[in-house]
Amino acid sequence: MVISRASLLFRRNSVTLEEVKTIPILDVATWLGLKLRGRSAHCFAHTPDRHPSLVFNLRRNTFKCYVCPEIRGSVIDLVMQVSKCSCKEAIKMLETYAGKPIRYRPSGPSLKRQQDASLSPEYKGMILDTLLQAAPLEKEGLRYLVGRGIDPDTALRMGVGSLRPETYQSLFRVLVSLHGRSALRRSGLTHFFLLAKEGLSFLLFPYRSGKRTHLIKARCLLTKEEADGRNIRRFVATEPAEILYNQDAVQSTSPLYLCEGEIDTLTMIQRGYAAIGIPGVNSFRDDWFKSLAGKEVILCLDNDEAWEKASEWFNAEFSRHGITHSRFSLPAGMDINQYFQQKEVCLG
Ligand SMILES: [Zn+2]
Repeated sequence: MVISRASLLFRRNSVTLEEVKTIPILDVATWLGLKLRGRSAHCFAHTPDRHPSLVFNLRRNTFKCYVCPEIRGSVIDLVMQVSKCSCKEAIKMLETYAGKPIRYRPSGPSLKRQQDASLSPEYKGMILDTLLQAAPLEKEGLRYLVGRGIDPDTALRMGVGSLRPETYQSLFRVLVSLHGRSALRRSGLTHFFLLAKEGLSFLLFPYRSGKRTHLIKARCLLTKEEADGRNIRRFVATEPAEILYNQDAVQSTSPLYLCEGEIDTLTMIQRGYAAIGIPGVNSFRDDWFKSLAGKEVILCLDNDEAWEKASEWFNAEFSRHGITHSRFSLPAGMDINQYFQQKEVCLG
């Protein structure tokens, strides 16, 4: 039998499941072959992970990945997730590691079921709204928008907010005390730590339909070049968008201006157009074509390589769904926001 450090932790000749969870998590991580960098490591579940996103909380003896919402938990979870095995198999492995049999006492199936259940859309919306209400459009975020020609009134009308990393972290703690950690994780709000841990402020764009907030897209204020240089994602959402940005505009009887991203959509809304936003031409959902059936759509999409590749498919799908469409002709490499900014500067 291998005498590990863990076997010396427990005096009795068997240990309980709760005691197993107290085996130092860094020891278990090393035993599982993770390469530690202080209290963090590269995530075993997502690649590339150039800045180690897997962090260990030594006080709680837990781990979590800032990127993968499902990668987190106790020593037992770590073994299960790294080894891709069942709870029973993980306990067997830990018995070998601890050098002692583990007395297994299941910890309440009802609690487990409660943790696994997803949040109701209404409850999730309420949590997201609480964050938005506490995230006023402060100086830094406002400066970014004004720099792109977006006026504060339009931004506020669309519920745009912004947060500094330290404000997000303290708000997060308040929200945890109100709703519990598990609910917050399932709301997707933990994803913004990805930006906050880099010390970045970010804008918040709520995706709403009717009165309900479905998701929030965060955007840090770095340029594409700066973000690429630091290997940081500029956009982080609480979940992938299932609705369009400014979805309610689909009800409009006037032509719909389909834009790429929130800034372009805001650019058109500000000028009185019924504008809706998609994340990009490559992430257009099939049900969005259905929701636009019978409408007249003007495509304000970037005149770039992505469009070149997708245009044929787009045109065919629009025709198939009976969507009348035309294209707002933009100079090569320019988006609708740049177009209007340049045009209006020229006009004086
Ligand atoms: Zn991960």
